[in-house]
Amino acid sequence: MHLPTLDSSAGVSGLTTALLLSKHKDYAVTIVAKHVPGDSDIEYASPWAGANFLPFSKPNTPAQQYERDTWPELERLARHVPEAGIHFQNTILYRRAKDSGTPTGEWMADLVSQDPWFKNLVPNFRILDQSTLPPGIDSGTSFTSVCMNVGLYLPWLTSQCLLNGAKLHQTTLAHISDAATLHHSSRKADIIINCTGLSSLRLGGVQDPALYPARGQIVIVRNSAGGNMYTVSGTDDDPAEAMYIMQRPGGGTVLGGCLQAGNWESQADANLATRIMKRCVEYCPGLVGEGQGIEGLSVVRHGVGLRPMRTGGIRVERSVVGGVVVVHNYGHGGYGYQTSYGCAGAVERLVEEAVLERARL
Ligand SMILES: Cc1cc2nc3c(=O)[nH]c(=O)nc-3n(C[C@H](O)[C@H](O)[C@H](O)COP(=O)(O)OP(=O)(O)OC[C@H]3O[C@@H](n4cnc5c(N)ncnc54)[C@H](O)[C@@H]3O)c2cc1C
Repeated sequence: MHLPTLDSSAGVSGLTTALLLSKHKDYAVTIVAKHVPGDSDIEYASPWAGANFLPFSKPNTPAQQYERDTWPELERLARHVPEAGIHFQNTILYRRAKDSGTPTGEWMADLVSQDPWFKNLVPNFRILDQSTLPPGIDSGTSFTSVCMNVGLYLPWLTSQCLLNGAKLHQTTLAHISDAATLHHSSRKADIIINCTGLSSLRLGGVQDPALYPARGQIVIVRNSAGGNMYTVSGTDDDPAEAMYIMQRPGGGTVLGGCLQAGNWESQADANLATRIMKRCVEYCPGLVGEGQGIEGLSVVRHGVGLRPMRTGGIRVERSVVGGVVVVHNYGHGGYGYQTSYGCAGAVERLVEEAVLERARL
C-alpha cells in the first residue's frame, strides 16, 4: 500500500520524526515548514539550543521514557557518525541547596540529584568528592554526556530525510489541516504529523492553551571549556537564571542561561549577557587566559530562543482534525533534542496504528 504521510515541520522534533517515518519504504513523507535549518527566527526554537543531553524529566513520566529511549541513538551517533556533529563530553553538575524552590532549582531538581533515575543509563555516573567542589556548592555529580552542534546536526537530519526520499516544502500554514493538501504526490495526505512547537498555541485546528514560552538567552564564544560541560542549579543574581557551559563539536562554546517563563522578548538583554559571561568565567576560569575576566572571551554571537513549554508535558497524541488523522508531537520545553528519538518513536507507533486501522476499513 502506498501511504502518503505528511510531516509538518523542520525543527528537531519534526525532522527526527520525518527521519524515522521516511525509513518506511511504503510511506511518502513531505516536510512542510515555515522555517528550515539555516533560518534564524524567534519562532523557531531548534537553532538556539546548546544542545546536550541532561535529563530533566521527573521519574515515571512519559518524558522520562522519551529521554531513556533517546540516549542510545545519540550515543550511537556520537560514537559512529561523525558527520552528525555530536560528540561525548564529560558533564559536571553542581547543586546549591538554596536553589530549591526557585524556577531553575525546580527545573534541575532531578538532574542534580545524587541518586538520579538516569545514573545507570549514561556512562561513568559518579558523585563528586566534597573536597573538589567550588565555594557555595553543596553537592556535585558527573557523567559522560553528548553535546550536539545544532548548526551541523539539523542539516544532517534534513539530509538523511532527503536521502530516504522525503521532500521539503517551505511554506506557512494557517490551519493544521491545510498541510494535507501540500503532499508532494499531489494526493491528499492521509496523516499529518504536527511538530510546530510553540506555534501550536495559535495554529488553527490546534490552539493549545497549555503552551507557553520559557525564554533562554545564550552567548556563543570561541573559547574552549577544556572538554567539560558545566551546569549549576541557580545563581545569586536572579531565581530564573542558571549557569551552564557546553562545548560544541567543530567549534563554539555555548554559555547560558536563563529560564524566563512567559517572556516573549526576542532581543538579547545586554546586562543578562554580561552576568552570563561573568558566571561562566567564575566557574570555569580556564575559559580565558590567566588573570583575565570576560574581556578574555571572544564572542561569536548572542542568542535568544523560546523553549516551547507545555503545562502537562509533551503532547504525543493522535486526533482527527478536518477529517484527517493528526499525530501531535510538540511542547518539548527545554528538552527537545534529548527526547527527540523517544518522541519520534512514539509517533511512529501511532502512525503504524492508524495505517493498520485504515487497512482494515
Ligand atoms: C537557549 C536554549 C537552549 C536549549 N538547550 C537544549 C538542550 O541542551 N537540549 C535539549 O534537548 N533541548 C534544548 N533546548 C530546547 C529545544 O531547543 C526545543 O525543545 C526544541 O528545539 C523544540 O523543537 P521543535 O521541533 O518542537 O520546535 P521548533 O524548533 O520551534 O520547530 C517548529 C517547526 O514548526 C514550523 N512551524 C511552526 N509554525 C508553522 C506554521 N504555521 N506553518 C508551517 N510551519 C510551522 C517551524 O517553521 C519549525 O520548522 C533549548 C532551547 C533553548 C531556547
